[in-house]
Amino acid sequence: MVPKYSFNVNSTGNQAVAWAAVEAGVDYFAHYPGSPVNHVEPALQKICAQENIDITFNHATNEHIATLAAAGASYCGARSLVVFKHVGMNIASDPLNYLGYTGLKGGMVIVVGTDPGATCSTGEEDPHWYAPQMNLPLLEPTTVQEIKDTVVRAFDISEKYEVPVLVFIPAKLCYNTDSIVVQKIKYHPKNFHFEKNPERFINVGQKAVRNHRALVERLGRLASDTNFLQGFGNPKAPYAIVTRGITSNHVYESLSHLGLFNEVHLINVEMTYPLNITPLAALLEHKAKIVVIEDQDGFLENQIKMNLFNKLKGDVYGKDIFPVWDEVSYHLVDSYLRKEFKFEEGPEPLAIPVVPERLGAFCEGCPHRSIFYAIDEAIKGTDTIIGGDIGCSSLPPHRTDWLLCMNAGIGISQGMSHVLKDQQVISTGGEGSFFHGGILSLQSAILNKINLLHMVLDNRSVAMTGHQDSPTRNPKTDYRGLLESIGVDKIIEVSAFNPLELTLRIRQELKGKGVRVMWVKGDCALQPDPETELKRKTKFISIDNSQCLDCDICYTDLQCPAIERVETLSEDLKIDLDKCMRCGVCIEICPNDAINVRYQHEFSI
Ligand code: SF4
Ligand code: SF4
Repeated sequence: MVPKYSFNVNSTGNQAVAWAAVEAGVDYFAHYPGSPVNHVEPALQKICAQENIDITFNHATNEHIATLAAAGASYCGARSLVVFKHVGMNIASDPLNYLGYTGLKGGMVIVVGTDPGATCSTGEEDPHWYAPQMNLPLLEPTTVQEIKDTVVRAFDISEKYEVPVLVFIPAKLCYNTDSIVVQKIKYHPKNFHFEKNPERFINVGQKAVRNHRALVERLGRLASDTNFLQGFGNPKAPYAIVTRGITSNHVYESLSHLGLFNEVHLINVEMTYPLNITPLAALLEHKAKIVVIEDQDGFLENQIKMNLFNKLKGDVYGKDIFPVWDEVSYHLVDSYLRKEFKFEEGPEPLAIPVVPERLGAFCEGCPHRSIFYAIDEAIKGTDTIIGGDIGCSSLPPHRTDWLLCMNAGIGISQGMSHVLKDQQVISTGGEGSFFHGGILSLQSAILNKINLLHMVLDNRSVAMTGHQDSPTRNPKTDYRGLLESIGVDKIIEVSAFNPLELTLRIRQELKGKGVRVMWVKGDCALQPDPETELKRKTKFISIDNSQCLDCDICYTDLQCPAIERVETLSEDLKIDLDKCMRCGVCIEICPNDAINVRYQHEFSI
């Protein structure tokens, strides 16, 4: 692998990870798609195709599997990159807790998209605490260029210290765009080999203890050999701000806007675990006041207080000033600095556009819209509970009663079904969730003889994160055979686009017993098959307002965005054929036959 030449590209944070993978000579890429790092894989696929680079891709069905597969490749000498979002750390934590013990041959880097502010997640869990628990180094880039540079550097660290390296990138930075410099490299074919070594790879008893100790010693060497501290402003100032990740940009920008660089020594910590304690202590020991500004929990503040207890002249502040929830924004930093430095007046804060909160919605022709309409109809007048799961099916106007984490639909429904006597529970979840871990919950429900109706919403796509293929896109996937083999009591297959039949089948199953799986099929509207494409050209759907009785079922209950109110006093409805996917659901549910279909040939002479 020889660097050939450097060049500039416009890149998002996601794309910078892909460019880093290419520059670092990654051989193996494993991922589980999740926002905000969902665009890394398509970006890497595109670069590989353009540059004729041969990287092996593993589209794993969950983060645990992605991590183990990448570890296997690294054990054999391949450089491996794993990508998933913050909650994926919970799923991958089992292997990640012990991969440092065994060490690696090829570098292994785990890029994790974090989400302070929960912009694309069900929560803003702070995964930083995993780094000390797992004894894994943690790097936090601050810009798009740094993402590329840090990931490349992380591979070198991983190989030198024989440990997987974590790189955390917050959502804002993942979606940021900048011009970055990347290096083009020349690939050589590689041969990989696994050297058996029971002392290293069989971790049990005293072997595990010895390997744990060796890992801690390697991390100690990493912290003392390298320096990941960046200083700005006045090193002699008695006031220090210590920061990490994207927050350092807000602090830098605010200090610069307020002209405070002479009063403040700003220190950015790029490797937040393990900390470069000795040089950090030297920078901070004589400061009169130290304020740690960071997103989410006080991970850095906590480590500074723990490691430098009684070694500092000034007090350390952090989460007593800045909240642990939401992002620490530029405006929050700016208003704090104005108060701290007693700015009666001063430059106006930089304007930040106010963005209205938008909740998202099902697309026109989305199979989930029809499914939730049918569920609503089927449970009308009952106190039935609907369990929700992660994915497109959680978009408004969803009717689920909770939204928590992957597989929470079927998982929580089990416990409820076990204890509730007077209420029925229907659990829902996409096929992506089902193969991610839902199938294990189903096996458990069978084992425990729970009465449960689970609806698999199979749109053959991990649609919400960028249409990665789901297992059912593979025609060989025999989900019926799979369900039968684990002992599901009843399997019902039904189309999402027949809401009346679907309503009937759900109603029937509310009285059923045992573990029942309703597999509801309907392709994602954004991945239409050729038949739908043809229908869009030849099938014309319209509302006959002379027939329409204004019951509003299609407009208010179904809420398909292709059905609009005509802007006249008559308030007539019309269908926007540019948006309509010809799914036919509105035609079926209209109780007054007011929605008509005409075909192209009917217009021909
Ligand atoms: S469902 Fe039919 S009758 Fe009711 S508002 Fe829509 S078009 Fe009119
Ligand atoms: S056929 Fe009806 S429900 Fe389907 S996309 Fe068109 S307007 Fe919406």
